[in-house]
Amino acid sequence: MDASLPDRLRATLRDVPDFPSPGILFKDITPVLANPALMRDVITAMVAPFIGSGVTRVVGVESRGFLFGVPMALALDVPFAPARKPGKLPWRTEREAYALEYRSDVLEMHTDAVGAGDRVLVVDDVLATGGTAAATCRLVERLGADVVGVSVLVELGFLDGRALLPERAVHAVAAF
Ligand code: AMP
Repeated sequence: MDASLPDRLRATLRDVPDFPSPGILFKDITPVLANPALMRDVITAMVAPFIGSGVTRVVGVESRGFLFGVPMALALDVPFAPARKPGKLPWRTEREAYALEYRSDVLEMHTDAVGAGDRVLVVDDVLATGGTAAATCRLVERLGADVVGVSVLVELGFLDGRALLPERAVHAVAAF
């Protein structure tokens, strides 16, 4: 793996102060999406620690988790399933409530998205307080599947999201 990838990623992400509310320094990933060479390296880095772990499904968290989760699922040659905001999924759903850095919310998955025997890799763009990833892991497990790990683009280490994921294998390409 390219040793400078975390530096390239940190240099490409755009910091937007006070978005979506005062005091939040938002990590804008759109410059990463606009850079195909960086995206290719990032997707490779996000799946690398989990190759050989028997992943059978990638679950991406709405909405920026989809942007990384789908190419990761293709790279691993496994199905992708979305964890979505409430009321978006059309079929039968299971739900999980959680607290975010700047609000509280609910995530839903289709009841047939993952199940017994599945080994799931949970994907999102930013690990902040860890509430979103932890809720997604709980939802996946409630549907009968095992969580292999959590893979994120960047981790805001000062928020200690890993504290909410104590038994999980958590991987971030870069940390702040
Ligand atoms: P958390 O549940 O606190 O770990 O928050 C993670 C979720 O909120 C992810 O889906 C992120 O996209 C989003 N998020 C939280 N904080 C930020 C931030 N500072 N910059 C960008 N996205 C964030």
